[in-house]
Amino acid sequence: MLSVSSLAEFLYCSRKLYLQEHHAERPPRAPGVLLRSERLRLIGKVDEVRKEGDAAIAVQKKTGRAPRQGVWPQHRVQMGAYLLLLEELHPGTEPEGVIRYARAERRVTLNPFLRYEVLETRDRALQVLQQRTLPPRIDDEKRCRACSLFSLCYDDNKMRELGYG
Ligand code: SF4
Repeated sequence: MLSVSSLAEFLYCSRKLYLQEHHAERPPRAPGVLLRSERLRLIGKVDEVRKEGDAAIAVQKKTGRAPRQGVWPQHRVQMGAYLLLLEELHPGTEPEGVIRYARAERRVTLNPFLRYEVLETRDRALQVLQQRTLPPRIDDEKRCRACSLFSLCYDDNKMRELGYG
């Protein structure tokens, strides 16, 4: 079973997902609607689910800015996972996603490409978590500086204490 937020972490950096899962404290659980499927091996909490006719709308808030068009790739996959879960938990409804950025609201719809992308990402993320090797650092200074695990990841002493290096 993989959390939906782990999909986004994996797309950000596989090392981040690994460290987060094995060594970092999870932030306290936010309120929201719990979605879970043994078959999909996914579990996650979306901010809100509302019905509009035949559609089940998943709404997720994001604090950052929106891209010029559409949504950020990791947000698309995260929302895609919520939509797959909604489809399974509410058969007969058409799942649709809304991502509310600070100044823009963007829609995400489920299609065969997104379906594949979510499941393929899930499998790759689960593979990373099952392996015993810490993935290498990524070569992206900007992304590392913005990473919540930067101080752990770049602290060689701490990493040695954890058994790496
Ligand atoms: S600091 Fe960089 S390499 Fe380390 S976990 Fe974060 S994104 Fe990955």
